Amino acid sequence: MFTDTHCHLNRLDLTKYDGELSGAIAAMKAANVTRAMAIMCDFAEYDEIYNIVTTFSDDALNLGMSVGIHPCEDLAVLQSATTERLIETATSEHVWAIGETGLDYYWSDENKQEQQASLARHVYASQVLKKPLVVHTREAKHDTIDILKAEKAEHGIIHCFTEDWDTAKKALDLGFYISFSGIVSFKTAQTIRDAALKVPMDRILIETDSPYLAPVPKRGRPNEPAFVPYVAACLADLLGKTPKDIGEMTAKNFENLLAQYS
Ligand SMILES: [Zn+2]
Repeated sequence: MFTDTHCHLNRLDLTKYDGELSGAIAAMKAANVTRAMAIMCDFAEYDEIYNIVTTFSDDALNLGMSVGIHPCEDLAVLQSATTERLIETATSEHVWAIGETGLDYYWSDENKQEQQASLARHVYASQVLKKPLVVHTREAKHDTIDILKAEKAEHGIIHCFTEDWDTAKKALDLGFYISFSGIVSFKTAQTIRDAALKVPMDRILIETDSPYLAPVPKRGRPNEPAFVPYVAACLADLLGKTPKDIGEMTAKNFENLLAQYS
């Protein structure tokens, strides 16, 4: 059993499934993916994602979602994420987490201050609702850690981890889990693999971040949640475990994260 802790289920490329999401869902089940969290980046996506998770959840596949605004969204969208609106939107039991929020100075460095303010509001919403935070960080590791620390964030995921061990250590010290995507399988990702070797086993998660970043051997193709076992296989090689071990361990870790304050 595998848990994909971060996928954009409403954005998948469904060409090979004749445009039907049910095809990608069947592929997840065939790949033994039993749980997945669909990630929201803008309020405009809420209804669509909510419909997907409530329509396709069943005994074989447990689907949930997050509520949050991605740091690369336009200024107006970032500003629309007031704490009140985040809290109001995220009360459903199908909403497992708050995000993805965070800082991205690579794709968008004009709105730094608004990104920072938005991240702080997401932390607050996560604390009020006792739901973990999903954090994206790119070329912004120092500010990300500083804000999480200042806002006393201690419950969440650094998603699609692409930083060094120093950053992982700081996030772990705050209480965060570290989620690895297909990037860990890329040849050039030695720094990330070095960090993965040091992260405590009980704080590792796996994700696809689909439709982006397909893992080796699917690199370059549209990614989908059914590929999360490839991420597990890469970590398994690295850590001297079986993919099944990694699947079970990371599924348990995600369960623990969700149950942390319940
Ligand atoms: Zn994402």
